[in-house]
Amino acid sequence: MYDIIIIGAGPAGLTAAIYARRASKSVLVLEALSYGGQIINTPDIENYPAVPHVSGFVFATKVYEQAQELGAEFVYEKAVGIRDNGGTKTVVTTENEYEGKAVIIATGSENRKLGLPNEADLVGRGVSYCATCDGAFYRKKVVAVVGGGNTALEDALYLADLAETVYVIHRRDAFRGDESTVSALKQRDNVKFVYNSTITKLNADKRLTSIEVTDKDGGVSTLEVNGLFVAVGRIPENQNFAEIIKLDDAGYVAAGEDCITNAPGIFAAGDNRTKSVRQLVTAAADGAVAATEAVRYISSLTA
Ligand code: NAP
Repeated sequence: MYDIIIIGAGPAGLTAAIYARRASKSVLVLEALSYGGQIINTPDIENYPAVPHVSGFVFATKVYEQAQELGAEFVYEKAVGIRDNGGTKTVVTTENEYEGKAVIIATGSENRKLGLPNEADLVGRGVSYCATCDGAFYRKKVVAVVGGGNTALEDALYLADLAETVYVIHRRDAFRGDESTVSALKQRDNVKFVYNSTITKLNADKRLTSIEVTDKDGGVSTLEVNGLFVAVGRIPENQNFAEIIKLDDAGYVAAGEDCITNAPGIFAAGDNRTKSVRQLVTAAADGAVAATEAVRYISSLTA
């Protein structure tokens, strides 16, 4: 029996482990793959306070070691469900079952991919899923943003301040995101809109060099770009817990800034929770809040 079981060893889960251990709770962290979450793919983090430059791998390793040194236990198994036994919860993995008094779900979310053959190989070499993380590498360069939601529009606006030219490529001629952001983008001379089009090929010579764009009538053109920012939505990794906790329409855990879900004793932290700013610093903050709330919940069981 653990005090707190944390599902996911990304920045939110690892920070929750640090806070829970510092509150003298026994902690099990379950992770399906390897520690670090999606930040591990970021070559250079420039926006974490007091840390001007650090690779995602180094950052994640330091947080992991910190949690381990404080006494968190790690088991590499995929959690596939939670059973609520009233006072305790059982987390079911592909191999075992673990019992805890409280559970923190910190499974993150995954960027939706375009699904092009060499897309994964070019991440960090021209292809990015995070303009605020990687935009600074494209000062005075030519970039494209693909997507029509608020993320794509805000990414394009952010990049328009840095890059020489920003192509906004959308598969329809009407944007899903806010009209005010569309209007702001239309004021920018260096933003060019490519409507009714999808990206059908990524051309590369070690790095991305150009993209093939196909319009709805089948017309094919090539755009020379240094960078491509993919912002076609995210897929939260909550499907395995949908029976026990309430999700919002987009599949995120319906929990506010206190990280409390509809199920007493089950908390959500990080990118898998309903929120507007999904960044490393907000994931870490969620970890601290969720662990603190979990500790408070455990105290209430014995009060
Ligand atoms: P989103 O709203 O789901 O938009 C995804 C966009 O990608 C859509 O325009 C969609 O096209 C397009 N798309 C999806 N799959 C595609 C594919 N395979 N190829 C090409 N295009 C594809 O995602 P999001 O922009 O990440 O936003 C997620 C949520 O966060 C939204 O609720 C958004 O409002 C919110 N958000 C809010 C803020 C803010 O409040 N400041 C900032 C960012 C995000 P279609 O339109 O044709 O479906």
